[in-house]
Amino acid sequence: MKVYKFGGASVKSAQGVRNLQAIIEHESQPLVVVVSAMGKMTNALEQVVNSFFQRKPDLQRNLEAVMSYHNEIAKELFDAEDDSIHGKLDDLYTELKEMLLHKPSLSYDYEYDRIVSFGELLSTTIISEYLRSCGMPIEFVDIRNCLITDGNYREANVDMNLSKELCRNTISFDTPKVYLTQGFIAGTETNQTTTLGREGSDYTAALLANLLDAESVTIWKDVPGVMNADPKYFDPVEIIPQLSYKEVIELSYCGASVIHPKTVKPLQNKKIPLHVKSFLQPHLEGSIVHEYPFKLELPPIYINKRNQVLLTLTPRDFSFIAEEKLSKIFGVLASYRMKSSLIQTSAISFSLCIDYNEMHFQKMIEELKDEYEVLYNTDVELLSIRHYTKEIVDQLIGERLVFVEQRNRLTARFVIPSM
Ligand code: ASP
Ligand code: MG
Repeated sequence: MKVYKFGGASVKSAQGVRNLQAIIEHESQPLVVVVSAMGKMTNALEQVVNSFFQRKPDLQRNLEAVMSYHNEIAKELFDAEDDSIHGKLDDLYTELKEMLLHKPSLSYDYEYDRIVSFGELLSTTIISEYLRSCGMPIEFVDIRNCLITDGNYREANVDMNLSKELCRNTISFDTPKVYLTQGFIAGTETNQTTTLGREGSDYTAALLANLLDAESVTIWKDVPGVMNADPKYFDPVEIIPQLSYKEVIELSYCGASVIHPKTVKPLQNKKIPLHVKSFLQPHLEGSIVHEYPFKLELPPIYINKRNQVLLTLTPRDFSFIAEEKLSKIFGVLASYRMKSSLIQTSAISFSLCIDYNEMHFQKMIEELKDEYEVLYNTDVELLSIRHYTKEIVDQLIGERLVFVEQRNRLTARFVIPSM
């Protein structure tokens, strides 16, 4: 059994849904297909959450934007007389509107998950109805009943034992069907909706593959495989045909957005290969992530992590930065869901590069100010070069201003002003 994952970009239009159908049509069954919200609908639903939670007057308008986007796609895919799809969409809209009528609870994260999850529910509803109308044997799986998590909303942790049993009860190895389900979302034992963290659909695909002992996972993307640099900023770039799990986890830690960082572990643990292929050119080989018994020759790989902030903390009482202090600092970071991408310590100061989130950042600074002198630069990016050579570093960095630099045998990293 294979697991296929289609991200938002692949199903952003009716044309995208038809393309998905063409890709899976000839695939052997059973096949598990994991789908994200269409296009940028998760962002659009985040706007809905914010309007709802902050009781802003644009709530209705933001909600309309989500509904009309899906209605447009449905209109192109189905005949006007097809009541079934419109009935199903209306049921979801009604459920969502119902939630928005009540006063928000105190937990932003809880409200976030129950609202944002509609992106995946709407996309899988449209896609499953479309595939069915093409005559495919579709089984719609509400993943919230199969992937069970704790109540850590927005970054929920999966209970693998419980989920394994439920997934195996729902998805059968012997029935030639296409099991269509949602990425990114999950549920608690008490039927609350949770999510696994932004861009988490890759992770869902990997979890399902692990729980079902699938033969492989394929992530269908708008790039022809894992590239050695972002073609938007580098020219020429090349596809890397083979990568180890370890390489991919290092790349995603450096900020490569090609695969969600949590995706690798469930696959590595069961040695399940991961294919990264283009939904625009499905005949191309793409990249395969697996464990290789030999050393792979890799080209230099460039990763620019943008929108970073470089933060430097110095204890006001001049005490040394020691383990106890560090664990407190990390506690504060974790409580604001800040993720550090580079860390450097000296005797009495501690610098780290983190993803910049304006709202949380200022609050966090306020909290740290009591004990630390806080300095920060917001307009920075983190450039990582895997498999670097001296020539490449000279060429890229040259005389540029570098705030922090770190090198080990395989990776050179530079915190530099944004380009
Ligand atoms: N729709 C979710 C997001 O945009 C999950 C995903 O796309 O992987 O974050
Ligand atoms: Mg998405």
